[in-house]
Amino acid sequence: MTPRSPRIVRRLATACLSLYDRAAAARTWHLPSRCRICQHWPQRTLCDRCVQAFGEAFARCRTCAQRLPDTGDAAAVQDWCVDCLRVPSPLDFALACRDYAHPWSGLAARLKFADDLGLARSLGRMMTATPGLRAQLADADWVVPLPLSDQRQRERGYNQAEALARAMLAHAPRLLRPRMNTGLLRRVLHTDPQHARSRDDRLARLRDAYRVPPHAAALVDGRHILLVDDVMTTGATLAAATRALRLAGAAQVGALVLARALTADDEAQAPQDAGTRDNAGPCSISSSSTPKSRPTRAT
Ligand SMILES: [Zn+2]
Ligand SMILES: [Zn+2]
Repeated sequence: MTPRSPRIVRRLATACLSLYDRAAAARTWHLPSRCRICQHWPQRTLCDRCVQAFGEAFARCRTCAQRLPDTGDAAAVQDWCVDCLRVPSPLDFALACRDYAHPWSGLAARLKFADDLGLARSLGRMMTATPGLRAQLADADWVVPLPLSDQRQRERGYNQAEALARAMLAHAPRLLRPRMNTGLLRRVLHTDPQHARSRDDRLARLRDAYRVPPHAAALVDGRHILLVDDVMTTGATLAAATRALRLAGAAQVGALVLARALTADDEAQAPQDAGTRDNAGPCSISSSSTPKSRPTRAT
């Protein structure tokens, strides 16, 4: 055997393990896999220990899911962040499963850019445990994943938001499970990457990015819609989708995202969808169950 042989054998073994991981992650039945975070084997694609270790729940703003400051006094927890008190969010509610931080930021990028659709099953399952989600699932008429533009869909071959929504619903209690509908909203604007742009700039560029097709208007009118996306950064994309749904008569629009960006720096690093996406624990909404005078939303 030549000196090169061990390296070739190692590479071959690594390739086989990688193929096995992908097959195990894509299965509907359980195969031992390697945890994407701790790399322990055999485990689930995301092992329970990692999901818990990186899953601290935070009090979040009710309408943008931004993490709220910890005052150390549960009674003093606010329902809305300063930004939403100043300029009310177009969303009726927003739920974020995790912060856009290690390891979720890397996994979100892998789901979006590395064809690692097996991850969607584990991440969607994790999203099911988002505090506040069960009540919203019970109330929703439709679950609507944020659509990609036709061009982006062709390039990528899949929509990561749809994969997450599908997996989330598959793990949700059957009685609470609203139907998913991918035909209620269309992305009609294909834009360049947005990550270097300010929130105001994004809002302006994306204002008419989505449309409810005429044949779907009757299914939206008067209904409660739960939007699902992978990452929320400024919220400009969700705001644009919400605007289209409200124009079609939606009575309530809320959002569930896998990860919520924490700061402007996070936004700059968030995996943008080449202009298609702006978006973002167990996942969480405000810890207070009784809203304290909701800020009035601009129309
Ligand atoms: Zn792990
Ligand atoms: Zn807020």
